[in-house]
Amino acid sequence: MVREHTKVIQIGNKVIGGGNPILIQSMTNTKTSDVKATVAQIKRLEEAGCEIIRCTVPDLDSAKAIAQIKKEITIPLVADIHFDYKMAIAAMENGADKIRINPGNIGSRDKVAEVVRVAKERNIPIRVGVNSGSLEKELVEKYHGVTAEGIVESALDKVGIIEDLGYDNLVISIKSSDVMMCVRAHEVLAGQTKYPLHVGITESGTVTSGNIKSAIGLGIILNQGIGDTIRVSLTGDPVEEIKSAKLILRTLGLRKGGIEVVSCPTCGRTNIDLIGLANQVENMVQGYDLDIKVAVMGCAVNGPGEAKEADIGIAGGIGEGLLIKKGEIIRKVPEEALLETLKAELDAWK
Ligand code: SF4
Repeated sequence: MVREHTKVIQIGNKVIGGGNPILIQSMTNTKTSDVKATVAQIKRLEEAGCEIIRCTVPDLDSAKAIAQIKKEITIPLVADIHFDYKMAIAAMENGADKIRINPGNIGSRDKVAEVVRVAKERNIPIRVGVNSGSLEKELVEKYHGVTAEGIVESALDKVGIIEDLGYDNLVISIKSSDVMMCVRAHEVLAGQTKYPLHVGITESGTVTSGNIKSAIGLGIILNQGIGDTIRVSLTGDPVEEIKSAKLILRTLGLRKGGIEVVSCPTCGRTNIDLIGLANQVENMVQGYDLDIKVAVMGCAVNGPGEAKEADIGIAGGIGEGLLIKKGEIIRKVPEEALLETLKAELDAWK
């Protein structure tokens, strides 16, 4: 993996790039101008492990709300701007830690220059975002359709505009809902820029399809050492995005800490409500920072063997389960007490 080559960018109290840990982002889906609802959602996301939050700023009320929201949250806030350069400026004046713009839809060069002037004054990073859906006609013609190369050229053109204005406090994002095109675009872009990349698969769908597409796309991209911050986009509760992002990073070995839950698929040998239990265990372990593996297995035939590979595990029996620790059977526990027993063991884990 080659993660060290990108420029280090400070976003509020966090840094990305230069081999720093890959940070997890999400985006609120409340009206940003509704301070109470937005703060409540950000707090839930912070608790789940969100490290940078983005809010849309479509109007002046939303820009002004940033100042209020910032007082109540601890993670950096990115203002997402489309079309109106005045909103980008208002967002920065109200304390946004970073702005996300597509210079292509902000309008004339003068307007972009005005945004860059304010960003420069305050040393606020700009994320330059381009999307395959809004690729310029000339690039579609040049590359005979929407292609990875066209998306990259479009992004680098926009970056060039801002660099010409004397600013290089930048992050780049390129998005496509075509997973493999997105992968290819990141591979091409990574070879041509020093700026950190915000990686995500856009419009990836509901929780199931979005998770699969994001895991495949982000998995291939991140495993090549490309990417400095990620967002899993799901049509669902943004807290789900954080859970998925954490799991993707952990699975790739890019993040340590947090309990990994392994569970069997269940079969005719299962005699306890293992599906319910595994889901409860998965939720329960979210709050622990232990770097261990917990196994939730359905039976005493294969269960103990599999559970031995984990630090602690359960193997279901009939109306009860075996508690297994580091390969040793500790005791039998009634089915209804399995969750609380596991929780007590984790609370006392050394
Ligand atoms: S661990 Fe037991 S219950 Fe689970 S799939 Fe394997 S054999 Fe079936």
